[in-house]
Amino acid sequence: MNRADIVIIGGAITGSAAAYFLARDGRAGRVVVIEADSTYERATTPQAAGGIRQLFSRTENIAMSQFGLPFYQSFDEDMAVDGETPGVNFRFKGYLFVATSDSEAELMRANADVQTAAGANVELMDGAAMQERFPSMSADDVTLACYSGDDGWIEQTAALWGFCKKAVSLGAEYVQGRVVSMDVDGPAVRRLHLESGDIWEADVVINAGGPWAGEVAAMAGVDVPVAPMSRAAYFWRCAEPVEDLPLIKDDHKLFIRAEGDGFIGGAPTFDIKPGFNWDFDRGYFADYFETTVWPLLAQRVPKFERIKLERTWGGHYSENLFDANMIIGRISKSIENLYMAAGFSGHGIMHAPAVGRALTELILDGGYQSIDLTRLGMQRVWDDTPYPEIGIK
Ligand SMILES: Cc1cc2nc3c(=O)[nH]c(=O)nc-3n(C[C@H](O)[C@H](O)[C@H](O)COP(=O)(O)OP(=O)(O)OC[C@H]3O[C@@H](n4cnc5c(N)ncnc54)[C@H](O)[C@@H]3O)c2cc1C
Repeated sequence: MNRADIVIIGGAITGSAAAYFLARDGRAGRVVVIEADSTYERATTPQAAGGIRQLFSRTENIAMSQFGLPFYQSFDEDMAVDGETPGVNFRFKGYLFVATSDSEAELMRANADVQTAAGANVELMDGAAMQERFPSMSADDVTLACYSGDDGWIEQTAALWGFCKKAVSLGAEYVQGRVVSMDVDGPAVRRLHLESGDIWEADVVINAGGPWAGEVAAMAGVDVPVAPMSRAAYFWRCAEPVEDLPLIKDDHKLFIRAEGDGFIGGAPTFDIKPGFNWDFDRGYFADYFETTVWPLLAQRVPKFERIKLERTWGGHYSENLFDANMIIGRISKSIENLYMAAGFSGHGIMHAPAVGRALTELILDGGYQSIDLTRLGMQRVWDDTPYPEIGIK
C-alpha cells in the first residue's frame, strides 16, 4: 500500500499545474501525480493551439486569463530548473474575434464592456478598420471585430513539461499508471487501484483526467457532465505572403494562427457525437477540411484559397455537456475529499495556472483566496442553472 496526502489523477497541464502550486505552497505534504501515459501522446494538452486571451464574457474566465498572461510571460524564468528553461516562447500577437451577424456584434459589444471593466485592453472595430489593420483579411461579411492586443499564444507542450519538472524539483512525485477503480467509504475516497495492481491511499484526490474526467469520476460513483469531444486541427502553408496576424476566431468558431512559416487552425464540427476518435488524418476529418474548414479559411483570408494542407491532427476537448464552461471544486455532495478540474473546452492551457492555484487554495485554505470560482462549481449542475460563455467561445 502506498500513501500520499494528495493524489492527482492525470498529469498533463491541469494536473501538473496543480502539482506545481501544491508543492510550491509547502503545506500540502506528499503530492503524487498518477499519469496513465507519461508520453502524453493522447492527452489533449500537446494537441492545442496554446492561445491565451481575455476575450470572454464571464468575469471568472477573464480573471483566470489575466492571471495566466503574466504567469506565462515569466514562465521560462520562474520554471527554470538547474538553469534549464522550458521555452514557452510567448508570442504577443494579439487575438481578434470576428462577428458576422448583427446578433453576434451585439454580444461582442456587451462582452467588450465586461472585458474593459475587468481591465482588458480591447478595441472594437468595423470591417473596414479591421481590414486596414490586417489587409489580408476579408471584411465582406464582417459586422464587428474585437482586438485584444495584449493576448497571444505559447508552446503549450513546453508549458506542460515546465510545470511537471518544476513540480518535481519542489518535491512532487509522478507515478506512471492508470487508475482503474476507487474504493469509497462513507464521505471519502479511501483507495485508488491502478491497472498494475498497485494501490494508493490519499487524504485528497484530484481528478485532472481531461476528457477522461467523466470516466474517472464514475469510478467513485459520481456523475459529472464531462465527455470527450473530438477536435481536429490543421497545418497549412500559403502560396502568397501574409502579414503578421493575431490569433483569429470568428463566430463560425473558425480559428487561425501563424505557426512557423505556415498556419494552424480548424473549426469544430457539430456532427460529431461525444466520444474518442483517433483517426483525424483520414475519413471524416480529412473530408471536413475540404468541405467546411477550407471555405471558411478562404472567406476570412482570401489568400488561403491557395494553400497546401500539410498535416492534420486532433485531440479531445474535455467538454462540459451541461453548459460548456469548466467545472472546478468538489464534485460530490457526499464525498468530501474528491475534487475535479475539467470541462475546459478550448481554454485549459490559458487557465491552467489559475486552476492550479485555485485548487491549491480550495484544498489547503478551505476556500478560494484569489479568484472566486464558486460559480464554476458543480452546484450549478445540481441546481440546473447553466453558466455558459456568451457570444464567440
Ligand atoms: C485542437 C485543440 C486546440 C486547442 N487550443 C487551445 C488554446 O488555444 N488555448 C487553450 O487554452 N486551450 C486549448 N485547447 C484546450 C486544451 O488543450 C485543454 O483544455 C487542456 O489541454 C486540458 O488539459 P488537461 O490536463 O485537463 O487534460 P489532458 O491534456 O487531456 O490530460 C489528461 C491526462 O489525464 C490522464 N488520465 C486520464 N485518465 C487517467 C486515469 N484513469 N489514470 C491516470 N491518468 C489518467 C491522461 O493520460 C492525460 O495525460 C485546445 C484543444 C484542442 C483539442
